[in-house]
Amino acid sequence: MKIILDAGHGGMIDGVYQTSGKRSPIWDDGSQYFEGVGNRQIVSKLTDELKKKGIEVFNANDSEKDMKLSERVSIINKEIKSNPDTEYIGISVHSNAFHDVRANGWSVHVSPNSSVDSMVMAEMSSKKMKKEFPDHVMRGVKTDNFYILKNTICPFILTENFFMTNEKECKEILMTKSGQDKIVKIHVDFICEFLGIE
Ligand SMILES: [Zn+2]
Repeated sequence: MKIILDAGHGGMIDGVYQTSGKRSPIWDDGSQYFEGVGNRQIVSKLTDELKKKGIEVFNANDSEKDMKLSERVSIINKEIKSNPDTEYIGISVHSNAFHDVRANGWSVHVSPNSSVDSMVMAEMSSKKMKKEFPDHVMRGVKTDNFYILKNTICPFILTENFFMTNEKECKEILMTKSGQDKIVKIHVDFICEFLGIE
């Protein structure tokens, strides 16, 4: 089975963030989190860790450029169709945002007509997150009509890794190496559990 990884939104090209919105407020110390950049950092570390374990990975977007969702989906579906003997499951990595800066917590999303596999993987991810972040709100598995979940032709989940609009979660988890590494490790763990790999 091959793992498809999708880092949400665009990255940074010559200091220019490629996606409008999708960033934290500018905090009092002048720092700011750009979701697409953080998603890429997480996905890039996750790719390395999975490959170390001999797990095959397909990166849906390995450049800093932003891509329309339809473009992402067509790249993913093309990969799947051109390898009919390979099974795939996909994970899209994001962080959440809300106008109320008090909103916080972690969640995982599947489409309403999701396959058993995506439900199983989502539940595994949720359980591991809860264990590793016991002091954070866990929103669990949510059903949503997200474009990438609905239109990809393999099981797919989307993780919303805390709220970049919440100062504590943003600065203590998303903007720290230890926080990002923990998110990566949990993704590695639930992927391995799903694949039945130690
Ligand atoms: Zn996002």
